[in-house]
Amino acid sequence: MRPARALIDLQALRHNYRLARELTGAKALAVVKADAYGHGAVRCAQALQAEADGFAVACIEEALELRAAGIKAPVLLLEGFFEASELALIAEHDLWCVVHSLWQLEAIEQSGVHKPLTLWLKMDTGMHRVGIHPKDYHSAYQRLLASGKVARIVLMSHFARADELDVDATAQQVAVFDAARKGLAAECSLRNSPAVLGWPAIKSDWVRPGIMLYGASPFEVEQAQASRLQPVMTLQSRIISVRELPAGEPVGYGARFISPRPTRVGVVAMGYADGYPRHAPTGTPVVVAGKRTGLIGRVSMDMLCVDLTEVPEATVGSPVELWGKQVLASDVAQQADTIAYQIFCNLKRVPLEYIGE
Ligand SMILES: *Cc1c(COP(=O)(O)O)cnc(C)c1O
Repeated sequence: MRPARALIDLQALRHNYRLARELTGAKALAVVKADAYGHGAVRCAQALQAEADGFAVACIEEALELRAAGIKAPVLLLEGFFEASELALIAEHDLWCVVHSLWQLEAIEQSGVHKPLTLWLKMDTGMHRVGIHPKDYHSAYQRLLASGKVARIVLMSHFARADELDVDATAQQVAVFDAARKGLAAECSLRNSPAVLGWPAIKSDWVRPGIMLYGASPFEVEQAQASRLQPVMTLQSRIISVRELPAGEPVGYGARFISPRPTRVGVVAMGYADGYPRHAPTGTPVVVAGKRTGLIGRVSMDMLCVDLTEVPEATVGSPVELWGKQVLASDVAQQADTIAYQIFCNLKRVPLEYIGE
């Protein structure tokens, strides 16, 4: 069988979840949207369900997948519903629901749901994507209460720049939130991963860690708490072919690499069809037989090439780590001009294998 694999370390996942709780003293919804950022939502939720306060997903399809797998904990729909007809399912499956727009509020008022809902009323405090305008927030809250369809409301907002520790945008968003929620006696939820790790003073009864659960830092720079995270995914494969090239020979599509010296080239069963970023350039770190080396030439669909000149012990069958505990996914992402979030979500074709159950 093709040796490409993603190993998912569920013990590391639990470690990271506990870190989110420990750093905040808050209740934490484990964000498992987009198939747990490529890590497998059902298996990740099962690994956390004994201790998690709840889960968060993007949409009802993702929530129903968790319910079908027997997950009983609260599940929050981070974008709420897309059509009013989802409200019946939301009530039936006891899902929690974000309300981010006035059309959703109206749909709830007009709906026939009789079971009281748990709603997270989202305020636009500066990201300007979704959320109720601060000036409309009090009245939206009162309308929800008056609708008779509500069991509980949590006040929430989302940060646009919490990963930038030296800008004041996050503090400004908190100030807007605090001013507009004044007088509303309800729990609140503000902090995503960068705010859990890097903004200890921000009050948030519920936190919503996503990327940190999977062990990747949301910061571009070193950060003390982020360095306590444990990478969960190891993307691995093996060397399937080795050749010695003299100086001056091209490697791969477009001859993007020309050997500057006699070069030992290893071919790895991994390509962009697996989600490895095609734009990772020559020099992107990779570990072969326990030794750090670099990519050479263009990544192709099913294969990529690595420099084995300084790894003479590497041979056909040698293990390769594309990212994991030795090569950080964030470092590969940075080389390819993207973020760990995206390279995790892009993962496909490779089987996921779980350890640390
Ligand atoms: C995705 C998401 C999160 C998690 O963000 P991370 O940066 O991965 O921690 C939290 N809150 C909302 C509303 C989200 O959409």
